[in-house]
Amino acid sequence: MAGKRIVLTSDPTMMSSYHGGVLLGFAATLPEAVMPNWIFERLFCPPLPAASDGSAMFAPCGMRKVEAALLESGFGRDELMVAHPAHLDRAIGSDTEIVGITHDDPLGKIAVREIEEMINRGAPHNRSKFLSLINHPLIKEHHPRLVVGGNGAWELLGEDLPIDHIYLGEGESDFPDICRHIMADREVPRVIRGRAVPGEEIPVNRGAAIAGIVEVGRGCWRGCAFCSPTMRTLRHRPLDRILEDARVNLESGQRDILLHSEDVFTYGSSGMKPNRDKILRLFSSIKELGPRTVDVSHMTLGTVHKNQDLLRQVSEIVGIGSDQKYMSAWIGIETGSCRILEMHMPRKALPGNTENWPEIVRDCYRLFAEESWLPVASLVLGLPGETAQDVRATIDLVDSLRSYTGLILPLFFSPMVETRLGGIEGFGRSRALPEHWELVGMCLEYNLKHLKTLHSYYSERMTAGPAVHAALTAINLVADLALNKYLQRMKRGEPPN
Ligand code: SF4
Repeated sequence: MAGKRIVLTSDPTMMSSYHGGVLLGFAATLPEAVMPNWIFERLFCPPLPAASDGSAMFAPCGMRKVEAALLESGFGRDELMVAHPAHLDRAIGSDTEIVGITHDDPLGKIAVREIEEMINRGAPHNRSKFLSLINHPLIKEHHPRLVVGGNGAWELLGEDLPIDHIYLGEGESDFPDICRHIMADREVPRVIRGRAVPGEEIPVNRGAAIAGIVEVGRGCWRGCAFCSPTMRTLRHRPLDRILEDARVNLESGQRDILLHSEDVFTYGSSGMKPNRDKILRLFSSIKELGPRTVDVSHMTLGTVHKNQDLLRQVSEIVGIGSDQKYMSAWIGIETGSCRILEMHMPRKALPGNTENWPEIVRDCYRLFAEESWLPVASLVLGLPGETAQDVRATIDLVDSLRSYTGLILPLFFSPMVETRLGGIEGFGRSRALPEHWELVGMCLEYNLKHLKTLHSYYSERMTAGPAVHAALTAINLVADLALNKYLQRMKRGEPPN
C-alpha cells in the first residue's frame, strides 16, 4: 500500500493509557525476564484503541502538538497520520517519506535506571520495544527518513543506531520545515535543534492526548543544573487554548484532565510570585468543563510552601473530598542535603531559604496529607560532589516522611546533554556508596508500603476491570515477597545482588 507521507508514532510503552493509571507506565523500566510481555501488556501497558484506518485514538501530548503544527503549516490530513504501533501496515508504505517517533526514554537512560543495574536481567521494555520499532520490517522495506524527537531524544546522541535524524528541542517550531526539506531532498543535519515556540503559538491539539494531558506552559526559572526544562524560557498558553485542548480530550470520551507544566503555580507569572487570579481562574474554568478529576503534573515545593492557602483554594475548587478523592502532583525533593541543594539547585527552595530545605519538604508533606494530595517525588542520587554525609541527610529526610502516603523515586543522576551538568559522567552501581544502597532500599520499602493505598486511590481514575485490579493486587503482594531480600540487603548498605 501507498501509506502516508508523514507517519507519527511511537512504541507500545509510549502508546498506552496504562489503564488510566499513568504510574503503571513505570513497568516499562523492567526487563522481560522479570515482567513477561503478556503481563506487561495486559496489566500495565495495554495497547491504545485504534481507529478503523489504523490511527491511534489517543497519543502522547507532544505528538499531538507536532501533528497540529504540521496541519497548521499546510500539510493535509491525507498526508499524515498518528499511527497505532500495532497497525503500521495501514500507515507506512511506498509513499512514506518520514517516520517521526516521539519518545521520553527510548534507551531507558532516565527513569529508574537503577532497576536495570539492580536486577541485571536484560534490557528494559522501553529500550527493547523502541529498538524493535526502529527496526520494523516496513521501515526496512520502504526506507523512510527516521526522525526521533521528544524529551528522551538526547539519549540517542552518540549511539550507533539506524536513525537518520535526532530532533532536540520543540517540535512545533521547525519540524514542519524539516519535513519539507526532507521531502524536497535538501540537506538536513543529523542533529536538529528545534527552537522554542511562544506560549500563544503552541497549537491546539487535533486529537485526544493520553491521560487527558493538557499543556499549560513550558520552561522553568529555577535553573537546577541537571534539568532540561530549565533550559527553556518560561512561558504559558492563553486560557482559551488550554480549555480547547481540555475539550478535545473530554469530547474523545476521556474523563480526567491532567494539567501539564513544570510548576502549575507559575501559571500566568514570570516566576516566583504566583498570579493567584490566573491560577484560580485556570482551575475554575477547567472544572466548569465537567471532568471527573483534575490533576497537575508538576509543582515545586518552594512555591507550595510559601503559598499554602493557594493550594487549599485549588483543592476546594477541584472538589477534593467531594468530587474526587485526592489530587496528585509530581514534585522534586532531589536531596535532603542543603549543601548539594546550594551547589546544584540554589533556587530550588525560593522564596524560602536553602538551609531550611528539609523543613520545607516536611511542611509541604504535612499540607499534602491535610489536603489529600498525593506527592510522587523524585530524588537524584550521585550528583557531582555528593558525599556519604549528604546521602545520610537525604536518608534522614526520607525517614521523616515515612508515614505520609506517596511515592519516592530514587533516580541515578543521568547527565542530559544541553544541561549544565551535561558533560559529566553519570552515576551508577560502580560508584554507589553503602548509604546510596540504604537510601534506595528505604525508598523501595516506602513505595511498597504505600502502593496498596495508591492503588485504591488510583482506582478512581482507572479504566481497568475487576480482573486487572485483582491481578495488580496479587502482583503487589508478590513484589512485596520477591523484593524483600533485595530490600533487606540494601537497607544494610549492600548492593542488591
Ligand atoms: S524546579 Fe524542577 S523543572 Fe525547575 S529547574 Fe529544577 S528540576 Fe527542573
